[in-house]
Amino acid sequence: MDFQYSDTQQDIRAAVGALARSFGDEYWRKCDEEQRYATEFVDAMTQAGWLAALIPEAYGGSGLGLLDACVILEEINRQGGNGAACHAQMYTMASVLQHGSEAQKQAVLPRIADGSLRLQAFGVTEPDAGSNTLRIKTFARKVNGGYVINGQKIWTSRFRQSDMYLLLARTTPYEDVKKKTDGLSLFLVDIRKAGKALEPRTIHTMLNHHTNEVFIDQLEVDDACRIGEEGQGFKYLLSSLNAERLLVSSECIGDGKWFIDRARKYATERIVFDRPIGANQGVAFPIAKAHMNLCASELMRNQAASLFDQSLPCGAEANMAKYLCSEASWEAAEAAMTTFGGYGVATEYDIERKWKETRLFRTAPISNNLVLAYVAQHVLDMPRSY
Ligand SMILES: Cc1cc2nc3c(=O)[nH]c(=O)nc-3n(C[C@H](O)[C@H](O)[C@H](O)COP(=O)(O)OP(=O)(O)OC[C@H]3O[C@@H](n4cnc5c(N)ncnc54)[C@H](O)[C@@H]3O)c2cc1C
Repeated sequence: MDFQYSDTQQDIRAAVGALARSFGDEYWRKCDEEQRYATEFVDAMTQAGWLAALIPEAYGGSGLGLLDACVILEEINRQGGNGAACHAQMYTMASVLQHGSEAQKQAVLPRIADGSLRLQAFGVTEPDAGSNTLRIKTFARKVNGGYVINGQKIWTSRFRQSDMYLLLARTTPYEDVKKKTDGLSLFLVDIRKAGKALEPRTIHTMLNHHTNEVFIDQLEVDDACRIGEEGQGFKYLLSSLNAERLLVSSECIGDGKWFIDRARKYATERIVFDRPIGANQGVAFPIAKAHMNLCASELMRNQAASLFDQSLPCGAEANMAKYLCSEASWEAAEAAMTTFGGYGVATEYDIERKWKETRLFRTAPISNNLVLAYVAQHVLDMPRSY
C-alpha cells in the first residue's frame, strides 16, 4: 500500500498548477460573467499536451494513467479554474481506447493528441429517460453499410466546441432485449459531416457550462463509426463512466482544496469583534470538518483510480469516490460561503462562482441518489429500488 503520489504525479501537479495559476481569478470570473467558453485555457492545455494524457504514446499522446489524469484535473480546479471546460476529452477516450477498432484509433487519437480534433461531446442523457439510461429512445436503424439515427439528447455539453460526438443509441428496442443492458450501441460521430442532422439548442444555466439539447434527424453514419459490437454499447460506456466519475471526483477535490484555502485565509484575516473570525469555533470547525472529509474522499479517489489503472473492477469504488468527493467539495463550498459572510455572494471574491460550479457535481454526471441506490443494491446486496 502506497499513500504517496509518484514523482511523475508531483511533477504534473507542479506544471499544471503553474499553467492554471497563470490564468488567474479574473480570467475565470470574466468567462463566468460573459458565459464564455474558456477557449484560451483549453488551447493552452492542449498545446502543453495535458489533454492527451490518456492517449498512448503510439498514438501521439503521453500514455499516462488515470490517476495521473486525475491530478491534472484536480490541479486546474485547485487553482480556481474549471476543468469541466475540457474534462470530456479525457473520459470519452476510455471507450475509444478500450473498445474502438485499430482503424478508429488511428483515425482520431493522433489528431486529438495534436489538437487538430476535439472529442469533447458525450451524448447519453435524454429528456424522457433522465437517470434511467437504459430507457433512452434515440434509435439507430440498420441500413446497408451503416445506420440512420433519429432522436433527441439533452445536456450534451460542449457540443459546439467539439468536432466529434460520442453518441449512445438503441439498436434494438428496449422491449425486445433479453438483458436490460443489451441493445444499446455507441457511435463516434463526425459533427461537421453530420451538418443539419444534428441540431443543438443552448440550455442557459446558472453556471458557465456550455450545454445543449441536440436534435437528431436522419443522421447517417457508416458501420465504421460504431464502437465495438452492435448492442454492447452500454458495457463499453461503463469504462468511460468510471473514468468520468473519477475525473469529476478530482475536480471536486481541487474545488474543495481551493475553498478550504480561501476560507482559512479569510477566517484568519477578517477581524470582527476585535478578533479574527476564525477564532470562533462556529467558523473554524466547519472548515476543519470539510478539510477532514476532503482528505478521506481523496483516499477513496486514489484507491478507485489505482484499480482502474490496473484494469481491475472499480465500479463500486468509482461511484463511492464520486459521491464522497462531491459531498466533501460541497461541504467545503458551504463552509467558505458562510465564512465570507455577505462577501461570499460578491462576484469579485469568486466564492459564488466556484460554489455554483461545485454544486453541479452532486447532480451530474450521476446524481448522488443514484450512487446511493447503486451501493445499496450492487455493493450491499439489498433489494432493488429501480
Ligand atoms: C450542466 C449539466 C451538464 C451535463 N452534461 C452532460 C453531458 O455532457 N452528457 C450527458 O449525456 N449528460 C449530461 N448531463 C446530464 C446529467 O448526467 C443528468 O442531469 C443526471 O444524470 C441526472 O439526470 P436528470 O437531470 O434527468 O434527473 P432525473 O433522472 O430526472 O432525476 C431527478 C431527481 O430525482 C432523483 N431520482 C431519480 N430516480 C431516482 C431513484 N430511483 N432513486 C432516488 N432518487 C431518484 C435524482 O437523484 C434527482 O435528484 C449534464 C447535466 C447538467 C445539469
